[in-house]
Amino acid sequence: MEEVRVRIAPSPSGNLHVGTARTALFNYLFAKKNHGKFVLRIEDTDAERTSQEYIDNIFDSLKALGLNWDEGPDVGGPYGPYTQSERFDIYPKYVQQLLDSGYAYECFCTPEELEAEKEEATRNKKPYVYSKKCENLTEEEKAKLRAEGRKPAIRFNIAKAQKAFHDSSILKFNDLVKGELHMDTDLLGDFVIQKSNGAPTYNFAVVIDDMLMKISHVIRGEDHISNTYKQILIYEALGVEVPQFGHLGMILAPDRSKLSKRHGATAVSDFVKEGYLTEALINFVALLGWAPSDGEEIKPVEKIAEDFRINEISSSNSIFEYDKLKWMNSHYIKMLPMDELKKRLMPYLEKYDLSELTDEQFTRMVEVTREPLVLLSDITDAVTYFFGDSVEIEPEVQKDVLDTETSQEVLKEYIEQSKDWVYEEENLHEKLDAFRGYFKEKGIKPKVTMWAIRAAVTGRTRGADMTATLAILGKEKVEKRIKAAIK
Ligand code: GLU
Repeated sequence: MEEVRVRIAPSPSGNLHVGTARTALFNYLFAKKNHGKFVLRIEDTDAERTSQEYIDNIFDSLKALGLNWDEGPDVGGPYGPYTQSERFDIYPKYVQQLLDSGYAYECFCTPEELEAEKEEATRNKKPYVYSKKCENLTEEEKAKLRAEGRKPAIRFNIAKAQKAFHDSSILKFNDLVKGELHMDTDLLGDFVIQKSNGAPTYNFAVVIDDMLMKISHVIRGEDHISNTYKQILIYEALGVEVPQFGHLGMILAPDRSKLSKRHGATAVSDFVKEGYLTEALINFVALLGWAPSDGEEIKPVEKIAEDFRINEISSSNSIFEYDKLKWMNSHYIKMLPMDELKKRLMPYLEKYDLSELTDEQFTRMVEVTREPLVLLSDITDAVTYFFGDSVEIEPEVQKDVLDTETSQEVLKEYIEQSKDWVYEEENLHEKLDAFRGYFKEKGIKPKVTMWAIRAAVTGRTRGADMTATLAILGKEKVEKRIKAAIK
């Protein structure tokens, strides 16, 4: 079998979208499964919408997800350059080939003329297809138009290519994901392959690039299906082999509309900023249209690659369930080894003065706060009371807990009894036990006793293990906070 070569070809007009990440992943998995090559090509021909910042974001996001490419702009490869804007001198030769063989023609129509055609179609309630007005211009007519200063665009002659290679106007192909697809190419309209300024259009550049980069399988979103018909005809007109195509269903928001920022993060880097682990995100994204044969959903990419089969991808749309991603994320956080977790939490702890804690205290703090984390960023709020001399008291905690007579009594007694306590967990454990016992004899529930202490020390009614919290904070801070809570 010829070598499997697939590619991801993002346009850098924004940060890497999760949808593109999924397409990249399925290409990557297909390459891994078939011992093939995964190529990254940057399609930056739309100079106005392109920026270096977006290109960097695409590189960084794919790398962070573990989707490393075998060939690409940075690593090179035998079929470079891999950045479309550096390939501009490659395309004209193939445009000429199509002009010479009659599968393309020069079009001198002005934007105004084309607009008028479109308006006419709208008036007649017909779908717009180009009138082919310029298909049969004579050399004389063309020369005259050139003399007027008009520069031609080049259009592909659909009907001519369709007739040459197919029995009717119906074009069929076998999609790897969706099965047989077909379309009446009369509805496509002769599309532009080279603009009047000499730049190739997407549909043309993509064919030339995929052909020269020896791409064997084109796996991409189903929004490209109508382009695929055009691209197949270009391959045929050029007389080269047509790659196999596979189109993935769309990713929809939980409300079944197009996934957009109003639903939550959509760019990989935004998910990371919000505190998602790239391991969780890529695992989640793999399940958008694919399911593991053993039903075991939590799986690293290497394991998914062993199990992956392209014909098992669902041809329908997938729903992006943010709640499920959160569940997966909390699972992945639980699985992280302590040292790794500490490293990953760092960006979310920037507002704290970490020098307040020894390494040991810091580790213990993470140990006692990690369990409920859903997002890495949840740590910011979870550890807030481990820092500073004073603590912010939630208003209800003040009213419902600290203001009660019982609490005030507990706190005063704490200051008395704890004078010589050693703030070390084992010791504190014993002392607190005795302290609760002391109040229990006075008819105060142990729970109530602890609430008073927790409220004064953390400003909250729930949080990390109390003994550990007191030990990490140390005598000085604890006493300051308790004294501040006593009226
Ligand atoms: N640059 C195109 C896009 O981002 C690539 C489409 C394709 O894979 O051919 O949609």
